[in-house]
Amino acid sequence: MAENLKSLKQILGRCMKAQEILDRLAPWRDAHKHSAWKPIVEEGDGRVDDSKFSGIPWLAENEPYPSCGTCQALMPLFLQLDLNKLPEELSGRFGSGLLQMFYCTDCDSYMPLENTKLVRLVQPTVHPQSLQCENYPSFPAKTIVGWTQLDDYPSPEEHDELGLIFNYDFSANTVRIECPLAGLVTEDLSMDSAPEAEEVTTALPGDKLAGYPDWIQGIEYPECPQCNRRMELVFQIDSEDNLPYMFGDVGCGHITQCPEHKEVLTFGWACS
Ligand SMILES: [Zn+2]
Ligand SMILES: [Zn+2]
Repeated sequence: MAENLKSLKQILGRCMKAQEILDRLAPWRDAHKHSAWKPIVEEGDGRVDDSKFSGIPWLAENEPYPSCGTCQALMPLFLQLDLNKLPEELSGRFGSGLLQMFYCTDCDSYMPLENTKLVRLVQPTVHPQSLQCENYPSFPAKTIVGWTQLDDYPSPEEHDELGLIFNYDFSANTVRIECPLAGLVTEDLSMDSAPEAEEVTTALPGDKLAGYPDWIQGIEYPECPQCNRRMELVFQIDSEDNLPYMFGDVGCGHITQCPEHKEVLTFGWACS
């Protein structure tokens, strides 16, 4: 009994230490809080220029249905966003018009900046075509009718460059946590008395607009081929959320855009 009580006290002591560190990191967490928006959807396809998952895309008059640059298969529309009807906080951030993403499910390439996908901005000012192609590929369409705003935080993969450093010593089984913004430098803590990086912050999984990418395998922001700037997250498309599609083994995909060149867009995904 006395032994049990002693080990219970030890466990509680550890929890308190981890909790204390998590509490002290609150200023860092607050400083990096961003908004993300989850789509509110209705089953079925809407108008040709609505925001939607799959369904009939807006295409210019006489434009052929988009096909894969590698295998020539027709590519289903994954996402279409009316950038003029995004939440007010995002007004103008991603440009104007419609953002469209088509993706070749035959090639199924995780690499950004390849011709097995088409991510682009179009200005639906001229008359759209009534779709000529009868056999266009599509998942069951969902129309995006609204957005739910949520707080989002960096994935542990981004902690380092945002000034929250976990210095692991795996041979000694210790970790030292440093965070200048929160004025925190710990001693070498045994791994099980320290909080895990995931307990500090993680990025929201699932489909979402803006916020932080939920990285599966480290930071993979592409660089703009024109200016080498790091591209930014526009939209996260996760496996089996609104689209019944799995990227690799439960991978997570990201539409990214150059902050300078709004027309430079791409899509890549990673799985564990
Ligand atoms: Zn292809
Ligand atoms: Zn650029």
